[in-house]
Amino acid sequence: EHVYELRNVRKIYGTKGNYVEALRGINLDVRKGEFLAIMGPSGSGKTTLLSIMGLLTRPTSGSVRIMGRDLATLNDKQITLMRRKTIGFIFQTFNLVPWLTAAENIELALAVGEYNGNRKRRIMELLDSVGLRGRENHKPSELSGGEQQRVAIARALANNPSIILADEPTGNLDSASGLQVMEILRGLVREGRTVVMVTHNEAMAEMSDRIARIRDGIIVGEEVISHVEV
Ligand code: ADP
Ligand code: ADP
Repeated sequence: EHVYELRNVRKIYGTKGNYVEALRGINLDVRKGEFLAIMGPSGSGKTTLLSIMGLLTRPTSGSVRIMGRDLATLNDKQITLMRRKTIGFIFQTFNLVPWLTAAENIELALAVGEYNGNRKRRIMELLDSVGLRGRENHKPSELSGGEQQRVAIARALANNPSIILADEPTGNLDSASGLQVMEILRGLVREGRTVVMVTHNEAMAEMSDRIARIRDGIIVGEEVISHVEV
């Protein structure tokens, strides 16, 4: 069962005479419950690829299927709805609102009308799931980097997405906090969610199930990582 099927996906930015071919024919399948890492040099198209998978950008040509549905058959409203219901995003810089507490940052992401009467309980459950019980009233500046990223993960999970897209989630963290974040991401995969992560960090990438290497807008290699269960 494939969550993503990308065929000959191309993305061109700009106009005739002044354009960049960011993706030059990407073919990629991602299975449900898989943890995929995307690696590649700066400017190779990683963020563009992630934003296409996140339904934030449409490809210039080629086809994208997400959970069996062809993007080309969906209008912008349907795409926005699908993104909200099925995808959670995590960023390198956390992107928390600095003047709001951890709980308020998560509350902001909870869809209007969802968990009515249980919103507080839902927020606590989310904070619990990333090991941050007791931190609900802390603002980002009162939390370590690792803790801020865990709040951001809780926020990404607020609407129970089946897909998590992470752009350099450990890029601003020390290795101990980075490993903690990776453990949480692996836990999400164990629950059956699909995680796609862009990273420059080889050690973090090796904690995924598969690494796809991209260069100049093309996937130039893939390797499956075998994990010995302990
Ligand atoms: P990476 O994430 O691997 O650094 P990107 O996907 O950000 O790569 O960029 C791929 C190429 O597309 C680069 O040459 C970049 O300059 C270009 N690019 C990315 N976004 C835009 C944009 N919005 N407008 C024009 N060019 C862009
Ligand atoms: P970690 O090793 O998990 O990144 P730190 O050693 O950076 O954590 O921080 C330890 C504790 O100190 C954290 O639990 C956090 O709540 C608290 N803390 C970190 N930075 C700040 C800060 N600027 N203001 C208040 N508390 C902080």
